[in-house]
Amino acid sequence: MSDAPLPPIGILAELTHRCPLQCVYCSNPLELLKADKELSTDAWLALFEEAADLGVLQIHLSGGEPTLRPDLEQFISCLARRGVYTNLITAGVGIAEGRMERLCDAGLDHVQLSIQGARAPTTEKIGNNRGAQEKKLETARRVVELGLPLTINAPIHRHNIEEVPAFIDLALSLRAQRLEIANVQYAGWALLNRNTLMPDREAVERQVEIVEEAQSRLQGILAIDFVAPDYFAIYPKPCMGGWARDAFMIAPDGMVLPCHAAATIPTLHFERFGERSLTDIWLNSPAFNAFRGDDWMLEPCRSCDRREIDWGGCRCQAMAIAGDAAATDPACVKSPLHNRMAMLIGEANSLPSSNADDFRYRRIGRA
Ligand code: SF4
Ligand code: SF4
Repeated sequence: MSDAPLPPIGILAELTHRCPLQCVYCSNPLELLKADKELSTDAWLALFEEAADLGVLQIHLSGGEPTLRPDLEQFISCLARRGVYTNLITAGVGIAEGRMERLCDAGLDHVQLSIQGARAPTTEKIGNNRGAQEKKLETARRVVELGLPLTINAPIHRHNIEEVPAFIDLALSLRAQRLEIANVQYAGWALLNRNTLMPDREAVERQVEIVEEAQSRLQGILAIDFVAPDYFAIYPKPCMGGWARDAFMIAPDGMVLPCHAAATIPTLHFERFGERSLTDIWLNSPAFNAFRGDDWMLEPCRSCDRREIDWGGCRCQAMAIAGDAAATDPACVKSPLHNRMAMLIGEANSLPSSNADDFRYRRIGRA
Protein backbone atom coordinates (compact mmCIF):
# COMPACT_ATOMS: atom_id res chain seq x y z
CA MET A 1 0.00 0.00 0.00
CA SER A 2 1.93 3.04 -1.12
CA ASP A 3 -0.81 5.14 -2.79
CA ALA A 4 -1.72 8.41 -1.06
CA PRO A 5 -4.56 7.87 1.43
CA LEU A 6 -8.07 8.82 0.35
CA PRO A 7 -9.75 11.64 2.28
CA PRO A 8 -11.28 10.51 5.58
CA ILE A 9 -15.05 10.02 5.68
CA GLY A 10 -15.70 10.72 9.35
CA ILE A 11 -14.31 12.30 12.49
CA LEU A 12 -15.22 11.57 16.09
CA ALA A 13 -14.81 14.94 17.80
CA GLU A 14 -14.55 14.59 21.56
CA LEU A 15 -15.45 18.11 22.56
CA THR A 16 -14.90 17.52 26.28
CA HIS A 17 -14.13 14.73 28.71
CA ARG A 18 -16.58 16.20 31.26
CA CYS A 19 -19.63 14.00 31.77
CA PRO A 20 -22.33 13.66 34.44
CA LEU A 21 -22.00 9.87 34.29
CA GLN A 22 -19.14 7.60 35.28
CA CYS A 23 -19.75 4.54 33.13
CA VAL A 24 -17.58 1.67 34.24
CA TYR A 25 -16.71 0.84 30.61
CA CYS A 26 -16.10 4.40 29.38
CA SER A 27 -13.63 4.39 26.49
CA ASN A 28 -12.14 7.71 27.54
CA PRO A 29 -8.62 7.61 29.00
CA LEU A 30 -8.11 6.88 32.69
CA GLU A 31 -6.63 10.37 33.05
CA LEU A 32 -9.29 12.73 31.75
CA LEU A 33 -8.50 16.19 30.42
CA LYS A 34 -9.78 19.08 32.50
CA ALA A 35 -11.99 21.81 31.02
CA ASP A 36 -9.11 24.31 30.81
CA LYS A 37 -7.29 21.97 28.40
CA GLU A 38 -10.17 21.88 25.91
CA LEU A 39 -9.85 23.60 22.52
CA SER A 40 -11.46 27.03 22.40
CA THR A 41 -14.57 27.78 20.35
CA ASP A 42 -12.46 29.40 17.62
CA ALA A 43 -10.05 26.46 17.48
CA TRP A 44 -12.89 23.93 17.07
CA LEU A 45 -14.48 26.12 14.40
CA ALA A 46 -11.18 26.33 12.51
CA LEU A 47 -10.78 22.56 12.85
CA PHE A 48 -14.27 21.91 11.48
CA GLU A 49 -13.68 24.26 8.54
CA GLU A 50 -10.48 22.40 7.71
CA ALA A 51 -12.21 19.04 8.07
CA ALA A 52 -14.80 20.14 5.51
CA ASP A 53 -12.00 21.31 3.18
CA LEU A 54 -10.35 17.91 3.62
CA GLY A 55 -13.53 16.22 2.39
CA VAL A 56 -14.90 14.84 5.66
CA LEU A 57 -18.58 13.95 5.22
CA GLN A 58 -19.72 13.35 8.77
CA ILE A 59 -18.73 14.49 12.23
CA HIS A 60 -19.75 12.71 15.40
CA LEU A 61 -19.93 15.28 18.19
CA SER A 62 -19.07 13.36 21.30
CA GLY A 63 -17.30 13.46 24.65
CA GLY A 64 -17.71 13.10 27.59
CA GLU A 65 -21.00 14.88 27.26
CA PRO A 66 -20.85 17.26 24.27
CA THR A 67 -23.88 19.29 25.38
CA LEU A 68 -21.73 20.62 28.24
CA ARG A 69 -20.09 22.82 25.59
CA PRO A 70 -22.21 26.00 25.36
CA ASP A 71 -20.82 26.59 21.85
CA LEU A 72 -22.23 23.33 20.45
CA GLU A 73 -24.86 25.22 18.39
CA GLN A 74 -22.06 27.21 16.72
CA PHE A 75 -20.24 24.02 15.76
CA ILE A 76 -23.39 22.48 14.30
CA SER A 77 -24.24 25.66 12.34
CA CYS A 78 -20.72 25.79 10.93
CA LEU A 79 -20.83 22.14 9.86
CA ALA A 80 -24.37 22.39 8.46
CA ARG A 81 -23.32 25.41 6.39
CA ARG A 82 -20.43 23.33 4.98
CA GLY A 83 -22.76 20.41 4.20
CA VAL A 84 -21.17 18.08 6.78
CA TYR A 85 -23.57 15.58 8.42
CA THR A 86 -23.65 15.94 12.22
CA ASN A 87 -24.37 13.22 14.73
CA LEU A 88 -24.71 14.18 18.39
CA ILE A 89 -23.56 11.39 20.72
CA THR A 90 -25.08 12.13 24.09
CA ALA A 91 -25.78 10.52 27.44
CA GLY A 92 -29.05 12.51 27.45
CA VAL A 93 -28.72 13.64 31.07
CA GLY A 94 -28.79 17.29 32.13
CA ILE A 95 -29.85 18.75 28.78
CA ALA A 96 -31.60 22.03 29.56
CA GLU A 97 -35.16 22.79 28.48
CA GLY A 98 -35.14 24.14 24.91
CA ARG A 99 -31.54 23.07 24.18
CA MET A 100 -32.42 20.17 21.92
CA GLU A 101 -34.70 22.50 19.96
CA ARG A 102 -31.81 24.96 19.53
CA LEU A 103 -29.46 22.20 18.39
CA CYS A 104 -32.08 21.05 15.91
CA ASP A 105 -32.56 24.63 14.64
CA ALA A 106 -28.78 24.92 14.21
CA GLY A 107 -28.96 22.07 11.70
CA LEU A 108 -28.28 18.90 13.69
CA ASP A 109 -28.89 15.78 11.57
CA HIS A 110 -28.99 12.86 13.99
CA VAL A 111 -28.88 11.93 17.68
CA GLN A 112 -27.29 8.86 19.20
CA LEU A 113 -28.38 8.37 22.80
CA SER A 114 -26.53 5.95 25.05
CA ILE A 115 -28.64 3.94 27.51
CA GLN A 116 -26.75 1.87 30.06
CA GLY A 117 -29.61 -0.44 31.00
CA ALA A 118 -33.11 -1.18 29.74
CA ARG A 119 -34.07 -0.98 33.41
CA ALA A 120 -33.50 2.12 35.52
CA PRO A 121 -31.48 0.44 38.32
CA THR A 122 -28.98 -0.91 35.77
CA THR A 123 -28.48 2.51 34.20
CA GLU A 124 -28.03 4.10 37.60
CA LYS A 125 -25.53 1.49 38.74
CA ILE A 126 -23.43 1.44 35.57
CA GLY A 127 -23.33 5.23 35.18
CA ASN A 128 -23.25 5.90 38.94
CA ASN A 129 -25.96 8.54 38.56
CA ARG A 130 -29.34 8.46 40.31
CA GLY A 131 -32.37 9.36 38.23
CA ALA A 132 -30.48 9.09 34.93
CA GLN A 133 -32.97 6.79 33.18
CA GLU A 134 -35.98 9.11 33.28
CA LYS A 135 -33.84 11.99 31.94
CA LYS A 136 -32.60 9.80 29.09
CA LEU A 137 -36.11 8.70 28.16
CA GLU A 138 -37.24 12.33 28.19
CA THR A 139 -34.34 13.26 25.88
CA ALA A 140 -35.34 10.44 23.52
CA ARG A 141 -38.93 11.68 23.40
CA ARG A 142 -37.82 15.25 22.65
CA VAL A 143 -35.51 14.10 19.86
CA VAL A 144 -38.27 12.10 18.18
CA GLU A 145 -40.85 14.90 18.60
CA LEU A 146 -38.41 17.23 16.81
CA GLY A 147 -38.34 14.81 13.89
CA LEU A 148 -34.66 13.95 14.34
CA PRO A 149 -33.60 10.38 13.64
CA LEU A 150 -32.68 8.59 16.87
CA THR A 151 -30.25 5.75 17.47
CA ILE A 152 -30.16 4.05 20.86
CA ASN A 153 -26.70 2.82 21.78
CA ALA A 154 -26.73 -0.04 24.30
CA PRO A 155 -23.26 -1.08 25.51
CA ILE A 156 -23.58 -4.71 26.61
CA HIS A 157 -21.69 -6.61 29.33
CA ARG A 158 -22.33 -9.15 32.08
CA HIS A 159 -24.61 -6.83 34.06
CA ASN A 160 -27.12 -6.11 31.29
CA ILE A 161 -26.73 -8.91 28.75
CA GLU A 162 -30.03 -10.42 29.91
CA GLU A 163 -31.72 -7.07 29.18
CA VAL A 164 -31.20 -7.32 25.40
CA PRO A 165 -34.88 -8.24 24.72
CA ALA A 166 -35.93 -5.32 26.96
CA PHE A 167 -33.56 -2.99 25.06
CA ILE A 168 -35.28 -4.00 21.81
CA ASP A 169 -38.72 -3.28 23.33
CA LEU A 170 -37.46 0.03 24.71
CA ALA A 171 -36.07 1.15 21.33
CA LEU A 172 -39.40 0.28 19.70
CA SER A 173 -41.39 2.14 22.33
CA LEU A 174 -39.16 5.21 21.92
CA ARG A 175 -39.65 5.08 18.12
CA ALA A 176 -35.90 4.90 17.52
CA GLN A 177 -34.81 4.17 13.98
CA ARG A 178 -31.77 2.19 15.01
CA LEU A 179 -30.51 0.21 17.98
CA GLU A 180 -26.86 -0.62 18.47
CA ILE A 181 -26.31 -3.68 20.62
CA ALA A 182 -22.62 -3.03 21.18
CA ASN A 183 -20.69 -5.46 23.32
CA VAL A 184 -18.18 -3.56 25.41
CA GLN A 185 -14.68 -3.23 23.98
CA TYR A 186 -12.01 -3.67 26.63
CA ALA A 187 -10.10 -0.39 26.45
CA GLY A 188 -9.99 2.59 28.82
CA TRP A 189 -12.19 2.05 31.88
CA ALA A 190 -13.55 -1.20 30.47
CA LEU A 191 -10.06 -2.70 30.55
CA LEU A 192 -9.75 -1.67 34.19
CA ASN A 193 -13.15 -3.24 34.97
CA ARG A 194 -12.75 -6.19 32.59
CA ASN A 195 -13.20 -8.93 35.19
CA THR A 196 -16.47 -7.46 36.45
CA LEU A 197 -17.85 -6.75 32.96
CA MET A 198 -17.03 -9.97 31.09
CA PRO A 199 -20.15 -12.04 30.34
CA ASP A 200 -20.10 -15.84 30.15
CA ARG A 201 -20.20 -17.77 26.89
CA GLU A 202 -23.76 -19.08 27.30
CA ALA A 203 -25.11 -15.56 27.80
CA VAL A 204 -23.25 -14.35 24.70
CA GLU A 205 -24.67 -17.21 22.62
CA ARG A 206 -28.22 -16.51 23.83
CA GLN A 207 -27.74 -12.83 22.99
CA VAL A 208 -26.64 -13.62 19.42
CA GLU A 209 -29.79 -15.74 18.87
CA ILE A 210 -32.05 -13.02 20.30
CA VAL A 211 -30.48 -10.31 18.13
CA GLU A 212 -30.62 -12.40 14.94
CA GLU A 213 -34.28 -13.24 15.50
CA ALA A 214 -35.15 -9.58 16.17
CA GLN A 215 -33.15 -8.36 13.16
CA SER A 216 -35.23 -10.54 10.89
CA ARG A 217 -38.59 -9.90 12.64
CA LEU A 218 -38.15 -6.10 12.74
CA GLN A 219 -36.85 -5.50 9.22
CA GLY A 220 -38.12 -2.14 8.00
CA ILE A 221 -39.22 -1.17 11.54
CA LEU A 222 -36.04 -1.03 13.62
CA ALA A 223 -32.50 -1.48 12.30
CA ILE A 224 -30.41 -3.42 14.82
CA ASP A 225 -26.62 -3.25 14.58
CA PHE A 226 -24.65 -5.83 16.47
CA VAL A 227 -21.08 -5.32 17.66
CA ALA A 228 -19.89 -8.79 18.62
CA PRO A 229 -17.69 -9.28 21.69
CA ASP A 230 -14.07 -9.65 20.56
CA TYR A 231 -13.06 -12.06 23.31
CA PHE A 232 -15.59 -14.62 22.06
CA ALA A 233 -14.83 -14.15 18.36
CA ILE A 234 -12.69 -16.17 15.99
CA TYR A 235 -11.83 -13.18 13.79
CA PRO A 236 -11.30 -9.58 14.91
CA LYS A 237 -13.29 -6.56 13.80
CA PRO A 238 -11.81 -4.03 11.38
CA CYS A 239 -11.12 -1.52 14.14
CA MET A 240 -12.14 2.00 12.95
CA GLY A 241 -12.59 0.38 9.51
CA GLY A 242 -8.79 0.00 9.40
CA TRP A 243 -6.14 2.21 11.02
CA ALA A 244 -6.21 5.72 9.48
CA ARG A 245 -8.30 4.47 6.60
CA ASP A 246 -11.77 6.09 6.80
CA ALA A 247 -11.94 7.96 10.06
CA PHE A 248 -10.07 9.36 13.03
CA MET A 249 -10.76 11.12 16.30
CA ILE A 250 -9.88 14.37 18.01
CA ALA A 251 -9.39 14.52 21.78
CA PRO A 252 -10.70 17.57 23.68
CA ASP A 253 -7.26 19.23 23.62
CA GLY A 254 -6.97 18.85 19.84
CA MET A 255 -4.81 15.71 19.84
CA VAL A 256 -5.47 13.89 16.56
CA LEU A 257 -5.64 10.11 17.05
CA PRO A 258 -6.38 7.19 14.73
CA CYS A 259 -8.68 5.70 17.40
CA HIS A 260 -9.81 6.07 21.00
CA ALA A 261 -7.13 4.03 22.68
CA ALA A 262 -4.25 4.85 20.32
CA ALA A 263 -2.45 6.83 23.01
CA THR A 264 -1.90 3.53 24.88
CA ILE A 265 0.69 2.61 22.22
CA PRO A 266 3.86 4.05 23.74
CA THR A 267 5.98 3.90 20.58
CA LEU A 268 3.76 6.36 18.70
CA HIS A 269 3.87 10.13 18.91
CA PHE A 270 0.63 12.01 18.23
CA GLU A 271 0.20 15.62 17.19
CA ARG A 272 -2.27 18.37 18.00
CA PHE A 273 -4.41 20.40 15.65
CA GLY A 274 -2.89 23.88 15.66
CA GLU A 275 0.68 22.61 15.77
CA ARG A 276 0.13 20.94 12.41
CA SER A 277 -2.83 21.03 10.01
CA LEU A 278 -5.39 18.21 9.96
CA THR A 279 -4.54 17.49 6.33
CA ASP A 280 -0.84 17.20 7.07
CA ILE A 281 -1.47 14.91 10.04
CA TRP A 282 -3.86 12.72 8.02
CA LEU A 283 -1.43 12.37 5.12
CA ASN A 284 2.00 12.46 6.73
CA SER A 285 1.94 11.79 10.46
CA PRO A 286 4.26 8.82 11.22
CA ALA A 287 1.69 7.60 13.77
CA PHE A 288 -1.08 7.55 11.15
CA ASN A 289 1.17 5.82 8.63
CA ALA A 290 2.49 3.26 11.16
CA PHE A 291 -0.38 0.78 10.63
CA ARG A 292 -2.08 2.13 7.52
CA GLY A 293 -2.87 -0.40 4.80
CA ASP A 294 -1.12 -3.77 5.01
CA ASP A 295 2.60 -3.09 4.42
CA TRP A 296 3.27 -3.18 8.18
CA MET A 297 1.74 -6.63 8.68
CA LEU A 298 3.72 -9.64 9.83
CA GLU A 299 2.65 -13.26 9.50
CA PRO A 300 0.01 -14.64 9.85
CA CYS A 301 -1.75 -11.44 8.66
CA ARG A 302 0.66 -10.73 5.79
CA SER A 303 -0.43 -13.75 3.75
CA CYS A 304 -4.00 -13.98 5.08
CA ASP A 305 -6.91 -13.55 2.66
CA ARG A 306 -8.84 -11.57 5.30
CA ARG A 307 -6.19 -8.85 5.62
CA GLU A 308 -8.22 -6.32 3.64
CA ILE A 309 -11.41 -7.31 5.51
CA ASP A 310 -10.32 -6.76 9.11
CA TRP A 311 -6.96 -5.00 8.52
CA GLY A 312 -5.36 -7.18 11.19
CA GLY A 313 -7.90 -6.14 13.86
CA CYS A 314 -7.26 -3.73 16.68
CA ARG A 315 -3.73 -2.37 17.28
CA CYS A 316 -4.62 -1.27 20.81
CA GLN A 317 -5.93 -4.74 21.72
CA ALA A 318 -2.71 -6.22 20.31
CA MET A 319 -0.80 -3.77 22.54
CA ALA A 320 -2.92 -4.55 25.62
CA ILE A 321 -2.78 -8.35 25.32
CA ALA A 322 0.28 -9.19 23.21
CA GLY A 323 2.36 -6.23 24.40
CA ASP A 324 3.13 -5.40 20.75
CA ALA A 325 0.95 -3.08 18.67
CA ALA A 326 2.20 -4.72 15.44
CA ALA A 327 1.12 -8.22 16.50
CA THR A 328 -1.94 -9.96 15.07
CA ASP A 329 -4.95 -9.03 17.19
CA PRO A 330 -5.26 -11.88 19.74
CA ALA A 331 -9.02 -11.95 18.99
CA CYS A 332 -8.00 -13.78 15.80
CA VAL A 333 -7.92 -17.56 15.94
CA LYS A 334 -4.67 -17.45 13.91
CA SER A 335 -2.88 -15.44 16.60
CA PRO A 336 -0.50 -17.51 18.72
CA LEU A 337 -2.03 -15.65 21.70
CA HIS A 338 -5.67 -16.43 20.88
CA ASN A 339 -5.92 -18.85 23.85
CA ARG A 340 -5.18 -15.92 26.12
CA MET A 341 -8.65 -14.53 25.35
CA ALA A 342 -10.29 -17.73 26.61
CA MET A 343 -8.08 -17.61 29.71
CA LEU A 344 -9.17 -14.03 30.41
CA ILE A 345 -12.84 -15.03 30.04
CA GLY A 346 -12.27 -17.93 32.44
CA GLU A 347 -10.44 -15.69 34.90
CA ALA A 348 -13.31 -13.17 34.91
CA ASN A 349 -16.01 -15.82 35.17
CA SER A 350 -14.34 -17.51 38.14
CA LEU A 351 -14.58 -14.38 40.30
CA PRO A 352 -16.38 -14.98 43.60
CA SER A 353 -19.97 -13.70 43.22
CA SER A 354 -19.36 -11.28 46.11
CA ASN A 355 -16.96 -9.38 43.80
CA ALA A 356 -19.30 -9.49 40.79
CA ASP A 357 -20.12 -5.78 40.85
CA ASP A 358 -17.00 -4.46 42.46
CA PHE A 359 -16.64 -1.68 39.90
CA ARG A 360 -13.95 0.95 39.77
CA TYR A 361 -15.49 4.35 39.01
CA ARG A 362 -13.78 7.55 37.96
CA ARG A 363 -13.79 10.07 40.79
CA ILE A 364 -16.42 12.80 40.48
CA GLY A 365 -14.92 16.18 39.71
CA ARG A 366 -11.87 14.63 38.09
CA ALA A 367 -12.64 16.10 34.69
S1 SF4 B 1 -19.37 6.19 28.37
FE1 SF4 B 1 -20.61 7.07 30.04
S2 SF4 B 1 -19.08 8.22 31.28
FE2 SF4 B 1 -18.12 7.82 29.29
S3 SF4 B 1 -18.59 9.63 28.08
FE3 SF4 B 1 -20.20 8.14 27.64
S4 SF4 B 1 -21.86 8.60 29.08
FE4 SF4 B 1 -20.02 9.63 29.84
S1 SF4 C 1 -4.53 -13.39 10.52
FE1 SF4 C 1 -4.66 -11.17 10.56
S2 SF4 C 1 -5.70 -10.59 8.64
FE2 SF4 C 1 -6.04 -12.82 8.97
S3 SF4 C 1 -7.99 -12.95 10.05
FE3 SF4 C 1 -6.40 -12.90 11.62
S4 SF4 C 1 -6.17 -10.72 12.15
FE4 SF4 C 1 -7.29 -10.83 10.20
